[in-house]
Amino acid sequence: MIDTHSHLFAEEFKDDLEDCILRCKENNVKKIMLVGFSDETNLKAQELSKKYDIFYPTAGVHPEECDSTYLDKFNRLVEFIKNNKVYAIGECGLDYYWDTTYKEEQKILFRLQCELAIKNDLPIIVHSREAHQDTFDIIKAFNGKLKGVMHCYGGSLELAKEYVKLGFYISLGGPLTFKNAKEPKRVCEGIDINHLLVETDCPYLAPTPNRGKRNESSYVKYVLEEMAKIKNITVDECDKITTNNAINLFKIYVENN
Ligand SMILES: [Zn+2]
Repeated sequence: MIDTHSHLFAEEFKDDLEDCILRCKENNVKKIMLVGFSDETNLKAQELSKKYDIFYPTAGVHPEECDSTYLDKFNRLVEFIKNNKVYAIGECGLDYYWDTTYKEEQKILFRLQCELAIKNDLPIIVHSREAHQDTFDIIKAFNGKLKGVMHCYGGSLELAKEYVKLGFYISLGGPLTFKNAKEPKRVCEGIDINHLLVETDCPYLAPTPNRGKRNESSYVKYVLEEMAKIKNITVDECDKITTNNAINLFKIYVENN
């Protein structure tokens, strides 16, 4: 298994990160994408990846980081990826849920990161909240040149199919396991498994049976089990395919996956 979206550098793990990594190994989670979203977290992802080989770092500027200094933040990201190995740009994208003050700036910042990803031949990790159509319009405008993943996808099945046509992966997390999560289950059912990924987005969005608690990467198994159930295939088969999808997207090599 590969957890394709985690924030294990968060404060929530400062006392037991090594135990979390151990639980991953015990639960067959072989690799973890460590997703940065700001100057500070991009750096933390690098530092932890040098210390523990289970981690693969990314770097980006999250839409919630978008303020009047967004161009400075973007320029620092450009410099950062010149000097540090990253496996993806992101997370980045659009978020109109909390604040729409910088809506136009968010769009510019997202486009800039899409261009940066293309220029560096990297995939993009996309966050989209309450901004489904705008996010899609920006990605579509790159005409299939952009590759990436819609992380913790919360849109409709119809839109997910459009993303797949553009060569994107759809990543499902904890909400897939929630009883009332009709749309994520529909997306899981309706999208070809060759375009699906699993993730935790930890420390947020813990899957059932740990809903409401701190999430961690070993819990990605619950997402995988639910996916296998919906797809009516074995957990092993589901693991093999989604692990390969992640390897292909992020160009990471996993021994005996
Ligand atoms: Zn995230």
